[in-house]
Amino acid sequence: MEEKEAGAQLFDLCRRHGIREQTFHRSKAKFGGIDFNEARRRKQLEDENRWLQHLVADLTLDPEKVATVRIRFLGSGDAFGSGGRLQTCILMESGSVRCLIDCGASSLIALKQAAVDPNDIDTILITHLHGDHFGGIPFLVLDGQFSRRSRRLRVVGPPGLTDRVTQAMEVFFPGSARAQRKFETEFVELVEGTPSFVDPLRVTPYGVIHACGAPPYALRVELDGRTIVYSGDTEWTERLVPAVAGADLFISEAYFYDKPVRFHLDYATLMQHRSQLDCKRLIITHMGPDMLAHVAELPVEAAHDGLEVSL
Ligand SMILES: [Zn+2]
Ligand SMILES: [Zn+2]
Repeated sequence: MEEKEAGAQLFDLCRRHGIREQTFHRSKAKFGGIDFNEARRRKQLEDENRWLQHLVADLTLDPEKVATVRIRFLGSGDAFGSGGRLQTCILMESGSVRCLIDCGASSLIALKQAAVDPNDIDTILITHLHGDHFGGIPFLVLDGQFSRRSRRLRVVGPPGLTDRVTQAMEVFFPGSARAQRKFETEFVELVEGTPSFVDPLRVTPYGVIHACGAPPYALRVELDGRTIVYSGDTEWTERLVPAVAGADLFISEAYFYDKPVRFHLDYATLMQHRSQLDCKRLIITHMGPDMLAHVAELPVEAAHDGLEVSL
């Protein structure tokens, strides 16, 4: 609150502290002079509470409902179309929930090839701000505008997400960032290591190592009693160990076969650390030409465009 009185922009302030303006005003009305850290802590407690209520309601009302979470790899490629694959676009479905994990520049094509209506996607989770992971958002938003989307779109990702998406929209389609639409686009910027409840998902970002002009994350996503972790792009980091712990599915990039490079994982390094990764299932993705040349002979499950997995 003091920061606000010192004249900082409320919008930027809320973003930096990982809370929405609405929450700021509610906290102010509710708690008076509390500071941002306190407001954030209270919001986390409220979110946790809502998450637990949701989980318990699901388990008690309809045990069948929690049985299946479907993961579809609509895009499993790297940034450069290696193997003719589309850029990262992972669809996660459970009941009426349809969420994308990453939305590379080719994602609208990927969705339409798979006969998934882009207007049914309610949430897009973004690991990091490279074009092959978030560059599809401007196309998806404009497609929604022209096809009279009414459902709110939530875009969730690292700090800097709102600015980068706005900039990308303006570069690709000048004026589009300010266009009036029938649907709301809500941005949620995650705070490293802090779970965010993005109804009905719980999303926890873990900082990884990848140069992209903003914090890169591995995302741990919990939905209907299942835990899915996606590494995003990163070289090996011990941060992946807690991120993956107990997961039903770990989706990991394996860009090279056995050549360690900065900012990306290779298959050999991933396998060296396999015993540290406590997950029921591992699927590799985001493979470059070198890895694609080896993958058929390897004892590992590998994604391809169109692969579907039920958890
Ligand atoms: Zn990438
Ligand atoms: Zn990247």
